[in-house]
Amino acid sequence: SGLKINIGKCEIFPVEVLTKENIVEPMRDIRRALLEADVSLPVVRRFVQSVSDEAVGTGLIRGVRPDQQLVKIVRDELVKLMGGEVSELVFAKSGPTIILLAGLQGVGKTTVSAKLALYLKKQGKSCMLIAGDVYRPAAIDQLVILGEQVDVPVYAAGTDVKPAEIARQGLEEAKRKNVDVVIMDTAGRLQIDKAMMDELKEVKRVLNPTEVLLVVDAMTGQEAAALVTTFNLEIGITGAIMTKLDGDSRGGAALSVKEVSGKPIKLVGRGERMEDLEPFYPDRMAGRILGMGDVLSFVEKAQEVMKQEDAEDLQKKIMSAKFDFNDFLKQTRAVAQMGTMSRVLGMIPGMGKVTPAQIREAEKSLIIMESMIEVMTPEEKEKPELLAESPSRRKRIAQESGKTEQQVSQLVAQLFQMRVRMKNLMGVMQGGSIPALSN
Ligand code: GDP
Ligand code: MG
Repeated sequence: SGLKINIGKCEIFPVEVLTKENIVEPMRDIRRALLEADVSLPVVRRFVQSVSDEAVGTGLIRGVRPDQQLVKIVRDELVKLMGGEVSELVFAKSGPTIILLAGLQGVGKTTVSAKLALYLKKQGKSCMLIAGDVYRPAAIDQLVILGEQVDVPVYAAGTDVKPAEIARQGLEEAKRKNVDVVIMDTAGRLQIDKAMMDELKEVKRVLNPTEVLLVVDAMTGQEAAALVTTFNLEIGITGAIMTKLDGDSRGGAALSVKEVSGKPIKLVGRGERMEDLEPFYPDRMAGRILGMGDVLSFVEKAQEVMKQEDAEDLQKKIMSAKFDFNDFLKQTRAVAQMGTMSRVLGMIPGMGKVTPAQIREAEKSLIIMESMIEVMTPEEKEKPELLAESPSRRKRIAQESGKTEQQVSQLVAQLFQMRVRMKNLMGVMQGGSIPALSN
């Protein structure tokens, strides 16, 4: 690990690249996070291996620790794995768009049917629902009631009609009514069984659907991989809808869906209300799976604060021993901004070291520093030596900024300390002694 630089009470860790060594421990945390999110072990193994290989050699953003930057890399990889972008629903070029919903019992198919109708209605599409769960009268009633709630017609027949026949009749009715989208709800079972699959195949043959969406409960966890594989092989799906994301589940199942089927998650349900359906955003999901959303915004912030050009510019100045009060202020402010971010980072491994009290302290000392630097002349800012050599200048700055002479001396010493440390860091050997303050 690298040298620590203290700025106020904040520390930055200027390790320059990610190495095999400095990613071992953070990789362990990431592995644990994925397993806790219920991503299946083989998927985790493959993933951790490929990310480790890729991460080694990556340059570090200034002020960001290896573990934090690694989380960002991992997040980006997760996003890619889940399809990168939002996957839109596909609509038929002519005739009604037909959406067939499948999934185990209780995952939320019937709820999703009505939610989806409302979702599409808001996009200006006329919809019709088909009640295909004929095994329980209550299931038909449930869809009829939800249909009324979202004001979308429901096609239902008795419990004595076969689902494939209902599908045929419903589709006819939809064509007659000229609706844009037909959504068919189906019966689920507690487990995958042959009767369910055969029935779905039959319905699919009749409907020739535009989309076959597998509804998956976010709580499904590790079984999701097997579930998605089977449904995809047996009936062929075009995508998935993940429900109950309003629960505690970190949703690792989302990773399995795309990994094993190659099919995207298109929508997510996050509540029991009819409005609780939205597009699936891979980046948000990745943050949720990692459970480290705060680290991610922290790293992005750091990236923003320390634009690459700035960092290079700074590096040049340090190399030529010209690191002055202007740079000092820039650098310190950048670190302080990150300090503010780190206020919310209590839960992150390793971040526990920075306490809120320390951050407040760092912010306070930044304000003090700023007020002293503000009253310096441009020349003094650029040539800190002037201050090191002249007690009367320091006295003037103390008076104008309302600080003590001791505080000014401290600031000057800090600047030179930083110069030296940064020069050491850059491997520049010449120069770099701290000028003694003359009294
Ligand atoms: P189906 O058997 O697949 O048709 O499942 P249902 O649509 O009947 O839903 C089963 C239960 O899950 C119902 O009590 C729903 O209210 C509930 N449910 C469905 N989707 C969600 C969701 O996104 N969040 C929450 N919290 N509950 C949901
Ligand atoms: Mg149902």
